[in-house]
Amino acid sequence: EHPGSVTVIGLGPMGRAMAEALLDRGYGVTVWNRTASRADDLVARGAVLAPCPADAVAANEVIILSLTDYEAVHAVLEPAAQALHDKVLLNLTSATPEEARAGARWAAGLGAVQLTGGVNSSPSGIGQPDSATLYSGPREVFDRHRQVLEALTGRVEHQGEDPGLAALSYQLGMVMFWTSMLSFWQAVALARANGLKAADILPYATETADSLAQFFAFYAERIDAGVHDGDVDRLAMGVASAEHVLHTHTEAGVDSTLPAAVVDLFRRGMAAGRAGDSFSSLVELLAKPGD
Ligand code: NDP
Repeated sequence: EHPGSVTVIGLGPMGRAMAEALLDRGYGVTVWNRTASRADDLVARGAVLAPCPADAVAANEVIILSLTDYEAVHAVLEPAAQALHDKVLLNLTSATPEEARAGARWAAGLGAVQLTGGVNSSPSGIGQPDSATLYSGPREVFDRHRQVLEALTGRVEHQGEDPGLAALSYQLGMVMFWTSMLSFWQAVALARANGLKAADILPYATETADSLAQFFAFYAERIDAGVHDGDVDRLAMGVASAEHVLHTHTEAGVDSTLPAAVVDLFRRGMAAGRAGDSFSSLVELLAKPGD
């Protein structure tokens, strides 16, 4: 039986993977992309290329938006505003929580409804059972379109009615993803300056990364209890260690922007009188930089 049809606007790596996953499951798929040629192989598989965003919107009730940012969303949809009445905008475009809320209000003003989504997957995970997306916005819309949502990522979760929530969750994931991946690039750069390749340090980098979850669990409980006791680690030790990291970079002539920022934060914690507390006390400084 035909599961229905959906529109996908934005055919970057993500939107293309989503259109493919929908075609795989037998959905009818209408697509639109600024650079029309990106639709060629989807059209060869049976997708319909709409000539303009308004036609793409008019074709189906559910419109998946997978664009670079909300500026692009507005650039694409404003000329199609008349066609948005009664439509469901499944907005999987990265945004700040406030942008997502403003987008939802804009859609509501045109008689459409937005479900915000934050996709926790790379394009290769789209259509796979273990990939996940967090959604927020009207629960009823999430429930009604669950089958489409599960075609995109096997796991889906509704976090609440606030359209900004899913955007917040996405950004919480991304602040960790970008800084963690940069921490690896940093280590690779330092290794390379010392004649080592990425592959040489991979086993050790993996061990370090794998150890982080237990630190998160240990410190999360203490942070929520307001405990930053220096019984396990002291910031005074931390700042000395962070300086060794920094100086290893300057010795090797490697860019030290990131390690210097770490030393700066540790020193601010020291200046705030936290020398004898755990480095987890930096959370307080990060949360209220003015104090
Ligand atoms: P891209 O930025 O590669 O592509 C998104 C699409 O946006 C392209 O089709 C591009 O059109 C279009 N676009 C950008 N600006 C405009 C504009 N002004 N007018 C019209 N169209 C525009 O993004 P991805 O496909 O990689 O990702 C889509 C979203 O998903 C992003 O918000 C991203 O943050 C998020 N995401 C991406 C992940 C990833 O691993 N790639 C992982 C999780 C989330 P054109 O083809 O013409 O350039």
